[in-house]
Amino acid sequence: QPISREALQALLDRLAADAPRCFGEGKVASYIPALAEVEPDRFGIAVCHADGSVQCAGDAMTRFSIQSISKTHALVLAMRELSPEEIWRRVGREPSGQAFNSIVQLEVENGVPRNPFINAGALMVTDMLVSQLFMPQQTIREHVRRLSITPSVDFDETVARSEMEHKAHNAALAYLMQAYGNIRNDVEVVLDAYFHSCSLAMNCVELARSFAFLANHGVNPFDGQAVLSPVQTRQMNALLLTCGLYDAAGDFAWRVGLPGKSGVGGGIVAILPRRMSICVWSPRLDSYGNSIAGRHALEGLVEGLNVTPLG
Ligand code: GLU
Repeated sequence: QPISREALQALLDRLAADAPRCFGEGKVASYIPALAEVEPDRFGIAVCHADGSVQCAGDAMTRFSIQSISKTHALVLAMRELSPEEIWRRVGREPSGQAFNSIVQLEVENGVPRNPFINAGALMVTDMLVSQLFMPQQTIREHVRRLSITPSVDFDETVARSEMEHKAHNAALAYLMQAYGNIRNDVEVVLDAYFHSCSLAMNCVELARSFAFLANHGVNPFDGQAVLSPVQTRQMNALLLTCGLYDAAGDFAWRVGLPGKSGVGGGIVAILPRRMSICVWSPRLDSYGNSIAGRHALEGLVEGLNVTPLG
């Protein structure tokens, strides 16, 4: 029996009220200096129902750096632009079990990243978009603006610049893949497009809206257009479930049991297939780079909704 809107609102309000209990733990990401500026003790949550209507609580209207959540948007664009053979020849679909920015598997696996949601995989997908699109970062921004029905969504140039100034690790991943012939464009151009996508600033409501199609058979509820086919939607949700939370994907699936994608800005997006997309945000991260209060709230939401999509 689906929960009433009133009961869901009460649940979201309770999760927002409980979030400060998690504020004693974890730290905001600081390896990108511009991200260290964020106020740590914030929490927002938004739910976008499959019909496009939204409910939210806490700081759901405060924009933050979406970071790795953009890896999902980039992959959606690649799946729309390129054949499956072209994509999956150059990037795998297996969980990595390694940190989000790990380089160790790249050498063993001939420059083919494990999946599109670790940094190496997202750089690979960005390289595909750079080859395919006239203005890749602007196309990603347009895509996100359309899905969130928010034309004001934009890059945070300060964050993008800060990432470029501290690019060494991501540059090392990209150059190694280039050495294997798997990244084909100028590495600086790929990094610039990747950092800009990561720097997109959005709030929980906008992010939840931009993922609603994954809870709606691939159809964007706001304009009725198919973003992905139903089969591609199933594939995307499967990848999010197995690879969306770095090397904590297994634990997240155990606790929450929903496809999801986190970012080091403290956002996590999750999908309850055929029902709703959810975005939570709270900047304090655990050692895997996932939002502590965010994950906790998603556990509470799944419990409160009494849903067991994998049960
Ligand atoms: N822009 C970040 C990086 O490349 C994204 C990391 C993340 O959110 O996991 O390091």
